Amino acid sequence: MAECCGSSRPKQAASSCCGGGGKNVLLYACSGGANVAEIADRAARRLMAEGKGTMFCLAGLGADIQGMVQTARDADLNLVLDGCPMDCAKKIFQRHGITNYTQAKVTDLGIEKVKGVRATDEQVAAAADAARAAIAKALMA
Ligand code: SF4
Repeated sequence: MAECCGSSRPKQAASSCCGGGGKNVLLYACSGGANVAEIADRAARRLMAEGKGTMFCLAGLGADIQGMVQTARDADLNLVLDGCPMDCAKKIFQRHGITNYTQAKVTDLGIEKVKGVRATDEQVAAAADAARAAIAKALMA
């Protein structure tokens, strides 16, 4: 992980050291209670560990914390990783009018949302692959 990733100072953590190809990429997972949300959360943390971006708190955007909303606006790219078609993370971005994001969705990978089931390592790997591809495609656009 890059030295700045995970810093308690959002502006500094959002510097170019954490993004793919020198870009400032922020990672937001829906991180809900379902298995697919756990997959989203673990995939986002895996990407952060790989230095693909810096994970930030979606709940802060949901709570209208203005500094955190501005951090998302200022990013080169926000990856929004949702678990299911409810699109909770994406809807928070839309509510704030933030458009510099790309989305990956766990259920789009054929993974079923099931109550009381834990994520598997294989499912997390598949979601991480999809998230990496979404970031790469968005940064090339
Ligand atoms: S997107 Fe789906 S899995 Fe994620 S928090 Fe919302 S309802 Fe739960």
